[in-house]
This record gives sequence, structure tokens and C-alpha cells, in this order.
Amino acid sequence: MSSSAPAPARANDFIRDIINSDLEADRHNKVITRFPPEPNGFLHIGHAKSICLNFGLALEYRDKLPDSGTRCHLRFDDTDPVKEDTLFEDGIQEDVRWLGFNWDGLYHASDYFDKMYDYAEHLIKTGKAYVCSLSDAEIKSHRGTVTAAGTNSPYRERSVDESLDLFKRMRNGEFSDGEHVLRAKIDMANANMKMRDPLLYRIRKTAHHMTGDTWCIYPMYDYAHPISDAIEGITHSICTLEFENNRELYDWVIDNLIDYAQFPSRPHQYEFARLNLNYTVMSKRRLLELVEGKHVSGWDDPRLPTIAGLRRRGYTPESIRAFCASVGVAKANSTVDMAQLEFCIRDDLNQKAPRVLAVLKPLRVVIENYPEADVEELDASYWPHDVPKEGSRKVPFCRELYIEQDDFMLDAPKDYYRLAPGKEVRLRYSYCITCTDVVKDATGNVTEIRCTYDPETMGKNPEGRKVKGTIHWVSARHAVDAEVRLYDRLLSEEAPPAGKDSEFINAINPSALTVLSGCKLERSLAEAKPGERFQFERQGYFIADVKDSRPAAPVFNRIVTLKDSWARAQKK
Ligand code: ATP
Ligand code: MG
Repeated sequence: MSSSAPAPARANDFIRDIINSDLEADRHNKVITRFPPEPNGFLHIGHAKSICLNFGLALEYRDKLPDSGTRCHLRFDDTDPVKEDTLFEDGIQEDVRWLGFNWDGLYHASDYFDKMYDYAEHLIKTGKAYVCSLSDAEIKSHRGTVTAAGTNSPYRERSVDESLDLFKRMRNGEFSDGEHVLRAKIDMANANMKMRDPLLYRIRKTAHHMTGDTWCIYPMYDYAHPISDAIEGITHSICTLEFENNRELYDWVIDNLIDYAQFPSRPHQYEFARLNLNYTVMSKRRLLELVEGKHVSGWDDPRLPTIAGLRRRGYTPESIRAFCASVGVAKANSTVDMAQLEFCIRDDLNQKAPRVLAVLKPLRVVIENYPEADVEELDASYWPHDVPKEGSRKVPFCRELYIEQDDFMLDAPKDYYRLAPGKEVRLRYSYCITCTDVVKDATGNVTEIRCTYDPETMGKNPEGRKVKGTIHWVSARHAVDAEVRLYDRLLSEEAPPAGKDSEFINAINPSALTVLSGCKLERSLAEAKPGERFQFERQGYFIADVKDSRPAAPVFNRIVTLKDSWARAQKK
């Protein structure tokens, strides 16, 4: 396996402790993990945590155990043809690769449908499984509760021959969906409800994206997963905490397989805490609802926590890997603050994104004492002093400029260090200007500012005057018009409301997307390539949108603001 970048250094966690002790005790001489997504949606940042863990372990232990066969598989858990699709498989592969990982083998649970069927027949023959003909609702009502034992199915004592015959006929398509199921014969009074004769197979007369019409019965996750792990020789089968109760069933399936002794190793399941993030939603069901209900533009909408959305938003794979490393691997569920993810992208882009000038809400400035025909090409460094990189471009300066509307105030308080009537401010890389007059429209809005510049102030402070503020600007004549999409958190509440499922829709942050048109970018950005990232000075980090940006008509997405503006707004 290879990775485009080494995994960030991390402290040991309980999974690594388990692996280390397995290696020390010679229980294993290699580490084989898998990432097992169901191809029924796109991956989200929670999956990234699992990807970094599974692929990261294989990378780490391959370094320690060269030539041992240590590896990580990508396995599609494709046991439900109703919701699954090749389109999602393609998206998932793209996302895993983009995160910087490569699998040592692409597998499908459906690769093993034949074996799973054989094992099921074996379970029936050994009296460990039976065909049950109760309806879904009846099965549910027989299951009991956490405090009350369930009731045996009237079909539980069906003869082996009858069950075998029915199971074969289920496979041959003689029955319709829901008429029969195959169940493990375990214990309807088991304290663990997962062990109360769980379903192993159900009828689904639906074509499968990999196996077509070959099958009309499909194995359940709890049956398919341990078998797939065993066949692939997975040593450490890592999943999220919700599957803690399924572990007993996982072990039951493994222990009751006919040729368990022939498997390369006996896999064990370990559970870790899933990633939860505030101000967003993370379950595929809810993401699907947002996409299908057209609340967002698609799976790659930059408001979504999907990998595709984060990528389009402008997040880097390095920032997501660093975030996953910073979250760590623990056994207790918790919610991580979105600010932690935002910190990671700022931290990464600080070293990577050239600084440029862009005015998002333009206000025209005329410098009355600057000659109309003149243009000065000013040298502007792409990097601040604390980033050890070199490179600069020329920014043109002339008589008419744009500044940010927010950098001007008609009645400014004393400690306002930007532009106001009678006040002086420095223009980044350029002169100091003083506001001498304003032009207003019929309703009293300021539409233009009149200024004078001091030719002595280029690159140095004016004699005897302190100019505290520096603002950004672009030359009006050279500016490139652009659309800028300001993205913010998906939800305006920390946690989506519990209770009725779709209610989280009401918590969508109305300002999660603000589209600005007629923004004025510095000349050099006319050349920005889709996917290029910049820091717009004093504004934040932005990326030229990969889908919509064009050379002469750039479209930029705000990746993240420069400071944690959310925390400040909340405090107010
Ligand atoms: P969701 O619950 O978000 O709808 P899922 O669990 O159904 O997702 P799968 O495709 O089954 O999605 O997940 C593939 C792997 O990713 C599983 O091993 C699962 O445990 C892991 N995973 C899913 N969500 C998270 C999360 N939030 N944090 C960490 N791992 C996750
Ligand atoms: Mg799942």
C-alpha cells in the first residue's frame, strides 16, 4: 500500500495497544484491516476517521513489519441491492484516493455470496439455523424487550430437511419478498437482543449492481461481515461503538463456520467511538434527505460534511488527516467542535495559500490628486514574513480603486482605524490616502469616496503622523469581476433537534451560503485555475470552484474565515 503523504504522528491508542500486544504474544505476525463502506451514499468526515485509522494502521505496521503481508482492504459491504449503486462505489473510491490512501485489494461482500450460501446450508444441517415464515411484524413482536425475553417462533422446530428445502427454494425464487427468512437458532431469551434468533438471509427480488439477477436472497450485515473478514484474513476488524452488541453475534458466526480452521486467521471485532461534529449532520440517511430534498446542490455541496463537499469547499486531504489525528481514537462517544476542523484547514493553508487582494463588497475610491493616465506596478509578496516562501507579483495602482464597504464609515468613532471623512489609512503595499469627501445617492447611501494620496508615504510612514490601519484594495481599471460564495456552517444549532426525524431541516443555517456577485479581484486572479487556493487578505481562505470557475469569470468559494469568527459572534 502507498500513500501520497505520511500519516501525521500520533500517540498510541487502545487499538494500537491491542495490536502491539497481539504481535508481542505472537497471536498475529501481520496486521490486516479493512474499510467496509456500504455503497449507498457518499463518504463523510466520520468515514474519514475510519479510513485514516484502518489505512493508517496498515501503513504504520507495514513499516514495522516489512514483507509480512500487512495491508488494508477496501471492501464494499454490498448486501442490500435496494439502496446500493455503482455510482456510489466510484465516489467512495475517488474519496479514499483523494484522502491519500490506496487499498491493497478491492473486494465486495458479494464476491462471497456463494460461500455464504454454502455456510448457511451448513448451519441449517447442523441445526443452527432455520427457515422462519413469520412476517416482519410478527418477528418483531416475538423479539421481546430489553427486560422481557422473546418468544420462540412456531417455525423454530421445523425439521432440518424442511428448512433446507425451503432455503433452496428461497434461492430459486419460488417465494416473494418477506415470505420466509433464514434465522440463526440461538436463544430467544438471550440478554443481548442481537442474539435472539437473528435474521441471516432475506428474500429481495431486486437486481444487484454486481451480481445482477443471480441472487434473490441476500445475507444480512451481521452474517456477511464476519464471513468476509474471515475469508480475507482480516486480523483486526474495527468498527464503531454502535456495533458493540453485534460482537457476540460476529463471534457466533465465526465460531460456527464449517472450515473456520482453514481461514488464515480468526478475526476479532473492536469498537471505537464514531466521530460526531456539531453544527452539521453526519448520517447518510440525513445527508440523503438534504440531497434528495434539494436543500443542497448535491453530494458535493460545500456546506455538507461529505468528503466530496469538503473537497469542493477547498479543504485539503492533509487538513482532514491532521484533524482525524487530532481527534484520536477513543472508546467513549463525544462531539467534536467544528472549530477544531476549521483550525486544521487554517493551519494547513497558512503555509500553502498565497496572499492576494480581493474586494468582496466594493466601494469606489477616487484619488483626486493622482494623475488620470498613470499606472504604477507595485511589488506585492505572496507570502507574509513568517512563511518561509518566496514569490511576488505586480499589482497595478491607479487613480480609481475599490475598497471594502466595511472599511469605510461615515460617522466613525475615535478608535476606528480604517477610512472615514478626514481620516487617513494605508493601502496595502501602497500609499496612505485621506478621505476628503463622499458622494451619496438619492437615498443617502455613500456610492463613492473622494481622497487624496500622499506621494511621500510609499513604503514608509508619513512625517509626524501615525497611520494605524491598513486596508486592502484593487485597481478599478484592472479588477477582475468574480462571483464569491461565502460558506458557513450547515446548521445554526449545535445539535440537530432530536425528535421527529426531518426536523433538522428547520435548523439549516440560512446564511450557510451567501452568493456575492460583482466582487473585484486583483488582476493576477484572472489566471486562477479551478482548484487553486488563496488567502484573500483580511477575509479568509478561498478556492476557485472546480465546477463553475472560468478563466475570465472566476467563481471562488470561501473555505474558512481567517479567525474563529463564529466563536466571536456567539459571544456577542
Ligand atoms: P452512517 O451511520 O453515517 O449512515 P454507516 O455506518 O451506515 O454511515 P458505512 O458505509 O456502513 O456507513 O460505514 C463504513 C465504515 O465507516 C464503518 O466501519 C463505520 O463504522 C465507519 N463509520 C461510519 N460513520 C462513522 C463515524 N461517524 N465515525 C467513524 N467511523 C464511521
Ligand atoms: Mg453502516
